[in-house]
Amino acid sequence: MRNCALLSKVCSRISFNYNHVLQTATFKLNQPGVLQYSTGPEVYDLVVIGGGSGGLACAKEAAGFGKRVAVLDYVTPSPKGTTWGMGGTCVNVGCIPKKLMHEASLLGHALKDSTHYGWNTPENITHDWSKMVENVQNHVRSLNWGHRVQLKDKNVEYLNAKGSFVDENTVKAVSQNGKETLLRAKNVVLATGGRPRYLNEVPGSNELCISSDDIFSLQNPPGKTLVIGGSYVALECAGFLQGLGYPTSVMVRSICLRGFDQQMANLITDHMESMDVNFIRSSTPQRVEQHENGQRLVTWSSTDGETHRQDVFDTVLLAVGRDPKTKSLGLENTGVKLHTNGKVLAVDGEQTDVPHIYAIGDILEGGVELTPVAIKAGKILATRLFSNSREYLDYKMVATTVFSPLEYAAVGMTEDDAISKYGEENIEVYHAFYKPLQYTVSQTPADQCYMKVICCRDGDQPIIGLHILGPHAGEMMQGFSVAVQCGVTYKQLSSTVGIHPTCAEEVVKIHITKRSGDDPMVTGC
Ligand code: FAD
Ligand code: NDP
Repeated sequence: MRNCALLSKVCSRISFNYNHVLQTATFKLNQPGVLQYSTGPEVYDLVVIGGGSGGLACAKEAAGFGKRVAVLDYVTPSPKGTTWGMGGTCVNVGCIPKKLMHEASLLGHALKDSTHYGWNTPENITHDWSKMVENVQNHVRSLNWGHRVQLKDKNVEYLNAKGSFVDENTVKAVSQNGKETLLRAKNVVLATGGRPRYLNEVPGSNELCISSDDIFSLQNPPGKTLVIGGSYVALECAGFLQGLGYPTSVMVRSICLRGFDQQMANLITDHMESMDVNFIRSSTPQRVEQHENGQRLVTWSSTDGETHRQDVFDTVLLAVGRDPKTKSLGLENTGVKLHTNGKVLAVDGEQTDVPHIYAIGDILEGGVELTPVAIKAGKILATRLFSNSREYLDYKMVATTVFSPLEYAAVGMTEDDAISKYGEENIEVYHAFYKPLQYTVSQTPADQCYMKVICCRDGDQPIIGLHILGPHAGEMMQGFSVAVQCGVTYKQLSSTVGIHPTCAEEVVKIHITKRSGDDPMVTGC
């Protein structure tokens, strides 16, 4: 019975698509010039909607198998009117400009430290925001160009157009000037990413605040800044702004870095407070108003509603999460289902309820919102589609780093999650506060440089979580994350000989357990 029903569903879909092809051809004959169709042999093996991290990787990989591939990418301007080139969030308004501004802020600290190392660095060094933005944007533009060249080299057809479904096999591409093209596709990959959320319930915030879409190309220095939000984007932006010399406040309604190890999150905020970042805790904004000289007057309340405060800022940056770009994809014309949060529901890896439509990257429910995840998912999916591979992406054990600006890198479970899953008696946590050698001569405080290794307590103690807070923690973590993913045990870790003098060697030397209550401060070599 089930097979019969399936067969009839498949037949009706074939007949529907066949009818559509006929209608399409007729329409083309009757109304030349109104719409352009890709017809007959021009059917694409793959149409990718969204040319960001995931979409580009998937398109290029598929084209490498000799398939006919088109990728559509279109940027809707931010409410402030900011727009950008090809490559998606990471390249234009995410990882790349963020990391470069993080570097800019670290360089400022290094300049101050340099005097301790004998450099006659002038005391009143100033920072030129506009120059930094110009150079960062030049690099971003070179990446935009690089992406276009790569697509051309790989014979991927690129349309600077907004894509949506007409039916399950037909994608409409609408370019900036309104030109419409219909593409027929055997397979469609959705990779439209997300965009910053706005606080519609807070009067004035849409008009008077900016988001991460705007900050990296802001022409004028941001000045005294309020960042609203307490997660990745908020802490990273607040960190580099303060580091560049702009007095920065962060308004947090609950906890910082939800989902991360909270001991580490608290150390990060301690470090940021030591840099004079002002945390406005347990508070939410109530309204934002225009003030004198272009400033913004922000009114906020404590979350219990007891206190109300106001202050004036030059810039207010919203970092309150991101929404998936799935609303205008015409998914109602397909059987693709969405979660209530707007992300695409998949039934098998990245495959949706419609077998030839897939979703990758930030819009996939249950995925991880990180560039390497989107890229890997796109590549692996293309090999599954076009080269008989059965490989699936493992979304667990993905390492990440918060550039806060002391870097926090993590892979695997948080301590709290490990306790809830295995019970406190069944896990061992090794930890260490350490002083990076470079901090000694410069007399840089190292109070928050900390790491912990979370293991199951049995046998050789398999490592289930590794957390490092300190300079260059992201660089340190990449190699260790391979080991953790391969199931490394504490016994293997501690039998590894370290590289001296590095911060990474503290990971293989770690030996104090939390349970012992011994002082975890590393002393000596
Ligand atoms: P995107 O890269 O967002 O690409 C989607 C593309 O599709 C966009 O160009 C979009 O304009 C386009 N599009 C949308 N709708 C349509 C349509 N209908 N038709 C055609 N095109 C469409 N991740 C890290 O790993 N490391 C970091 O350090 C890091 N830093 C970040 C910093 C910030 C401030 C932000 C916001 C994000 C950061 N991320 C970071 C996350 C990372 O940028 C995303 O996870 C990644 O870009 C997701 O890739 P994607 O392919 O899913 O979507
Ligand atoms: P998140 O969804 O991680 O965090 C949103 C933050 O905004 C939370 O602190 C949340 O508080 C707060 N918030 C939400 N709504 C409101 C509101 N109405 N009023 C006040 N505060 C509010 O979003 P991000 O934009 O920070 O990051 C999105 C994703 O981008 C991340 O998950 C990450 O994967 C990726 N990213 C990666 C980076 C990296 O790899 N280094 C850097 C930046 C982004 P609450 O906890 O109370 O809900």
